[in-house]
Amino acid sequence: MTVWHDLVGQADVVDSLQASVTAADAALHGELTAGMTHAWLFTGPPGSGRSNAARAFAAALLCEQGGCGSCLACRTALAGSHADVTRVVTDQPVIRVDAIRELVRHAALAPAGNRWQLMIVEDADRLTDSATDALLKSIEEPPPRTVWLLCAPTVEDVAPTIRSRCRSLVLRTPPTAAVAAYLTERDNVPAPVAAFAARASQGHIGRARALALNEASRNRRREVLRVPGQLKDLGSCLTCAANLMEAATEEAQPRVEALDAEELRDLETVYGAGTRGVKSTGFAAAAKELQKNQKQRAKRFVRDAIDRSLLDLASYYRDVVAVQLGSRAELVNEELRHDVATMARGTSAETSTRRLAEIFATREALEGEISPLLALEALMISLRGLEHE
Ligand SMILES: [Zn+2]
Repeated sequence: MTVWHDLVGQADVVDSLQASVTAADAALHGELTAGMTHAWLFTGPPGSGRSNAARAFAAALLCEQGGCGSCLACRTALAGSHADVTRVVTDQPVIRVDAIRELVRHAALAPAGNRWQLMIVEDADRLTDSATDALLKSIEEPPPRTVWLLCAPTVEDVAPTIRSRCRSLVLRTPPTAAVAAYLTERDNVPAPVAAFAARASQGHIGRARALALNEASRNRRREVLRVPGQLKDLGSCLTCAANLMEAATEEAQPRVEALDAEELRDLETVYGAGTRGVKSTGFAAAAKELQKNQKQRAKRFVRDAIDRSLLDLASYYRDVVAVQLGSRAELVNEELRHDVATMARGTSAETSTRRLAEIFATREALEGEISPLLALEALMISLRGLEHE
């Protein structure tokens, strides 16, 4: 299994990365080629695998065989523990200049091994202006064996000064059949479950795996898809909103708790707490700062989970529109075709389209400071109201 194995439905991207790996190898052996670029930008919709692509490319550049997938270089690069791969991953809304300065300093050094060193910035869309400036200098005059790999949802999300100096690779939403085949092959998921998960995830690989492997995820999704049929009166709207909120909190919790505990342990190690029984100076302040960041992250995880629910909800109304417009294509929620068809007969395509618009407006509003519960309540009420106009 080569390093490209986890890039589902991205044959074109894999081809051009592989060609670049060959060119890079030639460059390492002293043959100057135009094929090597020192800054890359991986873009693609969420779940299409842009950070996987960056990691696979890093592994292939570090592998003596161009990405065999099994040597030590490949395995450590893919796992994120290779000495010549440095990653900036953030769960904060922005990447600040100090993080990038540190990275740029590191980038100026020679690689530990005899090949390349890769600097991966997974959320290049979150760079602050000063972080962008700091990064730009290193990208403009890259150290000879340093390669920058930036990832972002779209090219437009990255500052023009940066993106104009990067070679751009665009990942597409992987086709349903490719996702289903991947689930079956990689995780031994039975074909019908794989087909369902691939459809329901709408090409988001991580989401597809969660739906295929995790019964709780499937149950939560089923609950979300019951919502359209439950919005009878004000009371049921509020109940649905509360249920969605609760499900999102429940979904976020295990990851939040695991990450919080791990970070606190790390902090205690850094400050020597536990070993000497006393916490050294600075611990209290650092712990307070950590707590603040963790609280923010917990909030965002809940919002992310709500966003996934809203996408599921939108898929339902989109199916309704598809039926209303006479489409014969497979529905995202094929297993609910009967309910979808009933709703399609009882409402107009215009109503369904307006409901979709309401859902997308709510998703956008949730990126701001609005209370998620209030936003969900308002959405449920307007989804119901549209039927009774
Ligand atoms: Zn290898």
